Amino acid sequence: MLDKIIPLADIRYASRLPVIPASVAAPIGLLSDTLGRPLRDLRISVTDRCNFRCSYCMPREVFDKDYAFLPQGSLLSFEEIERLARIFVAHGVEKIRLTGGEPLLRKNLEVLIEKLARLRTPAGAPLDITLTTNASLLAKKAQSLKDAGLQRVTVSLDGLDDATFRRMNDVDFPVGDVLKGIEAAQRAGLAPIKINMVVKRGTNDSEILPMARYFRNTGSVLRFIEYMDVGATNGWRMDEVMPSAQVVALVHDAFPLTAVDANYTGETAERWRYGDGGGEIGVISSVTQAFCSDCNRARLSTEGKLFLCLFAHQGHDLRALLRGSYADEQIAAAVGLIWQSRSDRYSELRAGLPSDDGSVAAGPKRVEMSYIGG
Ligand code: SF4
Repeated sequence: MLDKIIPLADIRYASRLPVIPASVAAPIGLLSDTLGRPLRDLRISVTDRCNFRCSYCMPREVFDKDYAFLPQGSLLSFEEIERLARIFVAHGVEKIRLTGGEPLLRKNLEVLIEKLARLRTPAGAPLDITLTTNASLLAKKAQSLKDAGLQRVTVSLDGLDDATFRRMNDVDFPVGDVLKGIEAAQRAGLAPIKINMVVKRGTNDSEILPMARYFRNTGSVLRFIEYMDVGATNGWRMDEVMPSAQVVALVHDAFPLTAVDANYTGETAERWRYGDGGGEIGVISSVTQAFCSDCNRARLSTEGKLFLCLFAHQGHDLRALLRGSYADEQIAAAVGLIWQSRSDRYSELRAGLPSDDGSVAAGPKRVEMSYIGG
C-alpha cells in the first residue's frame, strides 16, 4: 500500500501520486470538500488539441507548429475514462461535460459517449451528459452524437461579425460554419443549446448586442463570460475585462431583463430572462462576482490528472493508479481523500493575491484551460 506522496513533475504540470493510506478509512459514497461543497460535476478533457487559436485560451504564439501536444499513448483510453467516470459517479457525480481542447477532434467520440450514457447514479438515474465545442465539426457530427446518447451541447461563439470572429479564433474560420453547426444541433435535438461568448473589452464587446439580438427567441441560452486569467499564456489584463454588470445593463437597455433564480446549486451562470418572453441570457463572472462558494466541479485532464480548480497549478495523477493495477475501491478511496481535502477558491482570493505586474496573480504556473477544458 502506498502511504507517502511521490511528487511526479512532468513537462507540463506538476502532479502528485494520490495517497492510499492503509490506516485511513476509505471515503465511500457522496463526498464534501473542506468548504462543504459536494462533488457533482465532472469535466473530462478528451484531447489537448484544438483547431482554433483563440487568444484568451490557446494563443498562437505559444501553441505554434512546434508545440508538443500529448502523445496518443499518454491519453486516457475510452475504457479508462469510463472506469474513472464510474468511480466519480459513485462519489456523487451527476453531470459529465466533455471538453478539450476541441473534443470533436477526438476520433470516435461517440463510442465514449455510448459508454458514459450507460452509467447510472447510485439512485439509478441517467447522467446529464453534455459537451463544450467550438462547433467547427458539429454540422457533420450532431446527429451521431445525439444517437450515441449526448443530451446537450454548449457552443463557444465570440461574435457574429465574420471579421471579428475570424480574428478571435485566429485561424480564419468562418462564423457561418459555426452557425450551421448550431442549426444541426438544434435539428438533432441537442437542446437546450447554450452559447458561450467570452467578452474581451476592446476586442469583441461590440458583438454583445448583435449576439443577444440573434439568439433571442431561438430557445438557445446565450451566456456572456468575463475574460479570465486562466493559465499563464493569454496575457490577461484587468482593463480588458468587461464586468458582467455592464454587459447586463447594456442588454437590458435594449431588451429589458429580469433576474431569475439558479436552476441548481453550483450553476456557474447568473440567469436573466427577457421581459417580453424572448428567452434568457446568462453571465459567468469569475472575475467580478466569484462563485467558488458552491463550486462542485472537478476536472480530469486528457492524460488522467485530476484538477480541483480551473486555476489550479497541480493535479493528481489518476492514470498512474489506473495503469498501476489498483482496484477500483483503492482508486475510489484516493479520489475521495483528494476531494475531501479540497479548499480551492481562487476567484474569491484573486483580488487579494500578490501579482507581478499588477495584473496576473503571482505564483506557480496555472494549468492551461485548453489542457483541462473550461
Ligand atoms: S475559481 Fe476554482 S473554486 Fe472557484 S469557481 Fe472556479 S473552479 Fe471553482
